[in-house]
This record gives sequence, structure tokens and C-alpha cells, in this order.
Amino acid sequence: MADKFDVIVIGAGPGGYVAAIRAAQLGLKAACVEKWIGKEGNVVHGGTCLNVGCIPSKALLEASNKFVEAKHDFDDMGIYARDVTMDVKKMMARKDKIVKNLTGGISGLFKANGVTAIEGTGKVVSGKQVEVTDLDGNTTTYDADNIVIAAGSVPVEIPPTPLTEGLIVDSTGALEFQETPKRLGVIGAGVIGLELGSVWNRLGSEVTVLEAMDSFLPMVDTAIAKETQKLLKKQGLDIKLGARVTGSESKGEEVVVKYTDANGEQEMTFDKLIVCVGRRPYTKGVIADGVALSWASVALSSLTTSAAPTCRAFTPSVTVYAVRCWRTKRLKKASWWRTSSLATKPR
Ligand SMILES: Cc1cc2nc3c(=O)[nH]c(=O)nc-3n(C[C@H](O)[C@H](O)[C@H](O)COP(=O)(O)OP(=O)(O)OC[C@H]3O[C@@H](n4cnc5c(N)ncnc54)[C@H](O)[C@@H]3O)c2cc1C
Repeated sequence: MADKFDVIVIGAGPGGYVAAIRAAQLGLKAACVEKWIGKEGNVVHGGTCLNVGCIPSKALLEASNKFVEAKHDFDDMGIYARDVTMDVKKMMARKDKIVKNLTGGISGLFKANGVTAIEGTGKVVSGKQVEVTDLDGNTTTYDADNIVIAAGSVPVEIPPTPLTEGLIVDSTGALEFQETPKRLGVIGAGVIGLELGSVWNRLGSEVTVLEAMDSFLPMVDTAIAKETQKLLKKQGLDIKLGARVTGSESKGEEVVVKYTDANGEQEMTFDKLIVCVGRRPYTKGVIADGVALSWASVALSSLTTSAAPTCRAFTPSVTVYAVRCWRTKRLKKASWWRTSSLATKPR
């Protein structure tokens, strides 16, 4: 007979692992199910953020920023380091090490807080049961009074630019380039596309960003968006607004991208193309056919602020909320939620 839990969380990204830890801190018997296979072939915690999102992208931003500083900014201080070079493979190895340390840290937090980590793919098979299929295909069914679905999101793909191994990639692929592409195309001038374009531009790529919308970062405060656009332009990014991608053709090591803008049909050739047009909630197989969830509108903060075990069955909106907070102006609220209570005991 498998264990019974007060709460089972499906997904150990920032939405799920925080919920599981907080539930345990509030006195609930909590478990967290995760299926993400890391580079070493074992299940890792931390979700998109730690494995292929915030953390690796920030590691590359930091390294590329230091490279640019050393190359261009040290002269003013009388430090001459003009022949500085970048070993991209080494930069990637450092990024992987940071990811490994931090994902391992989540497993440590689970142990320290008494959260049971369950490895495998979780599926809600009834309002009170989660079936977990482990890496060998064996299934175990766990009972839970409450279930939190925090299954995260995946990159959106678009028909004009189907992904191809190593040539047309999504944000995950763009974190794995082993050398700096000479001509890099980025579809989408959202925060992820701009970050990744910025990294590779600092390392020497000619970067062109194709953005269908006419305005730059419309979801961001206007003054900040204007300043960001100015800085990125100065850095060397060619950001084409009102450029709608209509097709692509892979030709050996290159990809030709077709787009339309105010002047009609255009095309450009790149050595790599990153598709960064957004992310969509990941719900595949998380809920068994025929299972109905009550779409409880319990605020996330109930897990983080209340000493009473009031959590209910959350829905994928938990994850969607986290993504949206990052992408919209609710930054303050999101960061409060993420950081508020992991280190503290309930009052
Ligand atoms: C390149 C990039 C850079 C980013 N930079 C930032 C940033 O700087 N700041 C920021 O705030 N955000 C950033 N984000 C966004 C951030 O990564 C997400 O907002 C965050 O990861 C969402 O957390 P989550 O827990 O909802 O989902 P996820 O992190 O996606 O976690 C969901 C987890 O659920 C697991 N899962 C799914 N289904 C099942 C199942 N059936 N059984 C078991 N496990 C399952 C998945 O394997 C995954 O581990 C970035 C994203 C990207 C791609």
C-alpha cells in the first residue's frame, strides 16, 4: 500500500517545489512528483527555471557580460586586456555546473523540510489520487487529500519555423550552442529572445531580432522599454519591429527566413535561428481522461502566509500564474511569493 499524503504536488519547478516545501513547513505531509531527466540521466528538480530557464540564461548573461567588460571597458581603468578570448565550451560547462548545484539544492531542501520526492510522471486519476509512472514504467498510486498541479510550460512552436536539430532551435537549444554563430536570427523580441540574442551578440554574433509587433516590449513600462531598446541597439542588436515571419528553408548549414514588413516580402540568411515566441501551459497527460477538477480559486498566498492547512486542489493556473507574473508587471507580487517564506517557519 503506497503512502497517503496531505498534499501531493505534481511538478518541482519554482511553482511546485515552493508549494511542497511550504506545505511541509505548515505541518502537512507533502510529496512532490517530478519527471525531468537531467543531463546525467537522473531525475532533477527545479523545472524550467533551474534547468533551461532563468538560471542557465543568467549564467550565460553573466559570462558574456564579463567578456564584453574585459574586452571594451577595462581600458578606461588602465587595464589592457584586448586580446581576451572566449572559450564557449568552458562557459557552457560552468553553466551546467551551476545548474547541477542548484537543482541538487532543491533535493536538499526537500530532505531538510521533510518533503517526499517521488520520481516519475504524475497523473491525477481521481480527485484524491495521483498515479506515478517511474522511469522503468512501473506505476504506483498515491492517495492525497489535496493535489497541486504545477506542471509548468513549454516553448510555443510556429508552423513557419519548425525546429530542426541544431539549426532552428527554441530557447533550450540556444542555451547549448557550442560555438558562437556568425549570423544569428531571433524570432520574437520578448524577454527570453532578447536575453539570448544579447548573450550571443556579446560573444560576437551578428544578431537580428524579428518581431511581428510594431511596438517594443509592449507589456513593460514604456520608459523602461524605450531605454532597453536604446541599450540593445547600442550593443549591436538589429531589432526589426513589424516583421512577421512567414516561412523558412534550411539549406545545409544555413537557414533562410522569409518575413513581411512594411516594405513587403523580405528574407534573411542565418547560421542559427532561435524561435522565442512565447510559452504555453504544459498539461499533457497530467489529468486522466474523465477526471474533472474543481477549478478552485484559492490564492497562492494561502500556502505561504496562512498557518492553517487550507490548500485545495490547485489547477494549472498555478504555473500559468508564475509565468505570467514574470512576463507582466506583477513582478513585485511574484518575487514576494517566491521568496517570502522558504526560510521562515509559520507564525
Ligand atoms: C530562457 C528562459 C529564461 C527565463 N528567465 C527567467 C527569469 O530571469 N526570471 C523569472 O522569473 N523567470 C524566468 N523564466 C521563466 C521561468 O522559468 C518560469 O516562470 C518558471 O520556471 C515557471 O515555474 P513553474 O514551476 O510554473 O514551471 P516549470 O519550471 O516549468 O516546472 C514544471 C515542472 O513540472 C514537471 N512536470 C510536468 N508535468 C509533470 C508530470 N506529469 N509529472 C511530474 N512532473 C511533471 C516538469 O518536468 C517541470 O520540472 C525564464 C524562462 C526561460 C525559458
